[in-house]
Amino acid sequence: MLCVSKYKSWLFRLACMMIVLALFLLGCKISRKGTASKAASTVKISSDYPAREYYGDRWNNEHVRTNNDPKPAGTYSLNLIPAGTNAFVMPFCGKVLSEFGARGGRTHTGVDLKLEKESPVRCAFDGMVRMAKVYGNYGKTVVVRHDNGLETLYSHLNSIAVKLNQRVKAGDRIGGGGKTGNATTEHLHFEIRFKGEPFNPRLVVDLEKCRLKTNILTLNNNSYK
Ligand SMILES: [Zn+2]
Repeated sequence: MLCVSKYKSWLFRLACMMIVLALFLLGCKISRKGTASKAASTVKISSDYPAREYYGDRWNNEHVRTNNDPKPAGTYSLNLIPAGTNAFVMPFCGKVLSEFGARGGRTHTGVDLKLEKESPVRCAFDGMVRMAKVYGNYGKTVVVRHDNGLETLYSHLNSIAVKLNQRVKAGDRIGGGGKTGNATTEHLHFEIRFKGEPFNPRLVVDLEKCRLKTNILTLNNNSYK
């Protein structure tokens, strides 16, 4: 404004406009660069990963089992609702179609809960999304690592509502129910794992009353499949 009022020559006005345009373009470039580096750093801050006392820096977005997870040996006592975290929320309260355990010569590593297409599937405990993608026979799948040390898995989803490395709270909507992957009817395949090893969700959850069975979970060598 100052240069326009002081100098009337069209040449000078043109020069002013060019400077303003150059500054505007430079500003755009800086703000784009800033956004990109911020996004990259949120993925790298390993100190943000939950339950580092059990997993250290082992964190990947590709597979249900993280690399080199040793099978848990000995007895663990987990406080399922650590201080500062929200109470358990049942992912979906539906009829149990299939239990954890031996099924057709293989181990069924979770429980199947009947739901309808796009029924809301909710996060069980506070944590961080470790996996969110189509995963073979599981179909659209979300894995959350929780502050209490457990990991929960939600599969056959019709839609996924969370992003990788996103912080989630108990009760947050993970996605909508479905039958993607190897499923003949809409249902939630729900798993609970510790250090990669699945165990019967009934050790933790009353599937009929849709509530937590205990605040302190004790796992030993016989707890897993
Ligand atoms: Zn299943």
